[in-house]
Amino acid sequence: MEIKNVTVIGAGVLGSQIAWQSAFHGFNVTIYDIDSKALDAAMEKHKGYAAWFKARRGATGEEVQNTFGRLTYTIDLAEAVKDADIISESVPEVLEIKKDFYKKLSAVAPEKAIFTTNSSTMVPSQYAAETGRPEKFLALHFANPVWEANIAEIMGQPKTDKHIFDRVVEFARAMGMVPIPLYKEQSGYVINTLLSPLLAAAGNLFFNGVADFKTIDKTWMISTVAKFGPFGIMDLVGMQTMYHVMLLKAKQTGDLNAQKRAEAIKVNFLDKGKLGISTGEGFYKYPNPEYQSPEFLK
Ligand code: NAD
Repeated sequence: MEIKNVTVIGAGVLGSQIAWQSAFHGFNVTIYDIDSKALDAAMEKHKGYAAWFKARRGATGEEVQNTFGRLTYTIDLAEAVKDADIISESVPEVLEIKKDFYKKLSAVAPEKAIFTTNSSTMVPSQYAAETGRPEKFLALHFANPVWEANIAEIMGQPKTDKHIFDRVVEFARAMGMVPIPLYKEQSGYVINTLLSPLLAAAGNLFFNGVADFKTIDKTWMISTVAKFGPFGIMDLVGMQTMYHVMLLKAKQTGDLNAQKRAEAIKVNFLDKGKLGISTGEGFYKYPNPEYQSPEFLK
């Protein structure tokens, strides 16, 4: 069965992007949130994405208008999912919220609907039972911003049906993503499994006074021919996320180092409004960060 109708759950940072990207690629998209203000904010964001797609992607007025024509916004869950072929869930990253949501969803969703979660730090088996259809449940994980960092990591749990997995891989490609299939559950998927140790190692080198952050970035950029070093990546990810990741690590492992890093991020960045690229300053100043200058690599 072909996927035509997509329901996006949660109209926050990622949900609003997933909805736009799917609608732009021709899917009928309904976006649901428990909070009508979040839907209003998503509509505003969609106007911004429309302008960006026209300016940066060469999207035509007609393409953008058609995208809006395929988007519906609602606070009624049953209405939102009544004809869904696939559901992409982006509710907050809290296990109890996810579990509670899937219980409610399983009561109203049609049998044909595939459920996908966008969770970044959990694995789908943690709430597969609550979906009532574990064979049609898996992770479809996006990065931010969806259309620029356009990978979609697809990760089943032990009960996911192989055919459903393959359909989600196809769907990801059809909505403009590069599918990254994972053969087993892995916390952090591929990208964060690679990235987390790199960023942690860079933080240790810097905060222990071994080398300054520009030297560390320069080393990485020259030797791996990369566009960014670890501190440039932290600015992209955002200091707020870095702070939450460090706090979570400290809580889960009792790692005192992580606790110290979280505090340093709070004092040196969050309290000063330096949240990274989004506010124009993190480790570097934007829009023209020093690491983009040819002099930086000399
Ligand atoms: P967010 O806080 O921006 O948005 C969450 C939205 O969910 C809010 O609008 C909230 O009103 C809504 N919500 C809360 N409870 C709900 C419910 N029961 N039903 C429907 N809507 C509900 O969060 P986000 O950053 O978009 O993250 C959402 C998910 O996406 C998380 O699982 C996160 O791990 C994942 N994710 C986030 C990013 C990122 O960069 N922000 C990247 C990849 C994946």
